[in-house]
Amino acid sequence: MLNPFVVAVDGPAGTGKSSATKRIADVLNLIHVDTGALYRAVAYLATEAGFTLEFEDADHAAITRIAEKAQFEFKRVKEKNPKNRLYVNGKDVTSQLRTPDMSMMASKVSAIPGVRAALKGLQRNLGLQAPSILEGRDIGTVIFPDATIKFFLTASIDERAKRRLAELEAQDSDTISYEELREQIRARDNGDSTRSIAPLKKADDAIEIDTTTHTLDEVVSLMVEKIKVRKLELEAKG
Ligand code: C5P
Repeated sequence: MLNPFVVAVDGPAGTGKSSATKRIADVLNLIHVDTGALYRAVAYLATEAGFTLEFEDADHAAITRIAEKAQFEFKRVKEKNPKNRLYVNGKDVTSQLRTPDMSMMASKVSAIPGVRAALKGLQRNLGLQAPSILEGRDIGTVIFPDATIKFFLTASIDERAKRRLAELEAQDSDTISYEELREQIRARDNGDSTRSIAPLKKADDAIEIDTTTHTLDEVVSLMVEKIKVRKLELEAKG
């Protein structure tokens, strides 16, 4: 067994990964690692450096260097929402990351092999520091193929667009329509699933959960139950 305990949670945008993994981390006292935030942070730094969504293959080396040079630090703070803040090169960039533009840019920079390589060791280190739960696209397939337990969440595209819109509205940044958001999610799914490196796909040994018709509470209960059973099985094995 991997020591310490690592829970891998993958799936496309809007399946409830973030909400569920944050809750499970609280319930089971695990470190929560949002790996999408790292790709979003690289997207943010690339944008700051002047790159746009139309960047070309010739720009891959420069964007890779940005990812390699960046210092990332997750800090848990009491008073802010979200409570898990991401500092990049000493600056709190959390509130800049979850916009529709940054989602699209993150999806593009994450297809650059050098960027993925630059973030791989960091993700392993974050997951190995203590019992943890990591959410992303390739946690169970590439980052922790040896994870203690793996989940793959899915949901219909209509439901996912509805959830993302509600999330944006809650942040007071509803500058995008439901139709545009749905199209962006579809484009992101397509890019993430068809890229040649670490495409979004279910690990053979992952537990698949379709969250379309389930509440967050139901999904969390089911996942916590499965994690507890797995823990007991491992303890019984010694
Ligand atoms: O999970 P989130 O929506 O924040 O991820 C933003 C983008 O980062 C995804 O669309 C995906 O392209 C990329 N990503 C990835 N691998 C991960 C996490 C995110 O490629 N482990």
